Amino acid sequence: MKEKNPEQLPFDREYYNKLARRLKSLAHPTRLFIVLQQAKKPLCVCDLAEKVGDDISTISKHITLLKNAGILQSTRNGQRTFYKLRVPCVLDYISCFLKTYGADEQLSPVSGEIKNITLGGISMADGKKDMEKWNLLPHCGKEAEGLDIILACDGAASVGQVGHQVAVDLTNRGNGARMCCLSAVAADSPAHVGIARKARKLIAINGCTNRCTSKILEQKGIPYDYEVTISELGVKKVATLDFNKDDVVRIAEKISKEALAG
Ligand code: SF4
Repeated sequence: MKEKNPEQLPFDREYYNKLARRLKSLAHPTRLFIVLQQAKKPLCVCDLAEKVGDDISTISKHITLLKNAGILQSTRNGQRTFYKLRVPCVLDYISCFLKTYGADEQLSPVSGEIKNITLGGISMADGKKDMEKWNLLPHCGKEAEGLDIILACDGAASVGQVGHQVAVDLTNRGNGARMCCLSAVAADSPAHVGIARKARKLIAINGCTNRCTSKILEQKGIPYDYEVTISELGVKKVATLDFNKDDVVRIAEKISKEALAG
């Protein structure tokens, strides 16, 4: 079949919908990892489950999605089913991102091997070990409607540091709350403003009575559901980056109880 030249095609929504669905299947950390593993050799679901550290049924779902999108195909060897790339050029695609946004080396699809890729100083060659170094956050851009979004000032004072750490603490609890970038909201980043607007609940954490977080939201016309000011909760504002962990836990508990419960 003769290849279509995309530049000469008129806009055909259905055609681009199909293409978008294929590309969308890659937009998940586990599936990206699975795809990168295929650069070495075809792997079975058990191999992949072990490398990712997830159960077989979860990995099977990811594989099915990638198969349905035409990214992977299965091949049998005796009783076992292995998976390999149906579109090896997808490695070039990912490699381009790695190269542009911080990878020190790119994939080598010609040799079919991963050559010591590093991203932010982390080697991707040993996938399982490296994935474990990151505690990945839920993707709030996509799921903001189902998340409580926390915006905190990160002021250069004791109270700003406590506010930031409270946001980190609440995010790490994994109870459906997730911090987002206040600076990006202040800078009118459409994605971040959208996240704040779509939040299930929006929590504003201020360091001191200057209320920078709340004021940014008020200036943007973004309503928030709950506001807290650290300096009014028994933490003295001092020009230091030191903070007391007990304050962080105490205030995180208060917010969790008053604003995040349910
Ligand atoms: S609220 Fe206070 S601590 Fe936070 S950024 Fe503003 S001035 Fe700094």
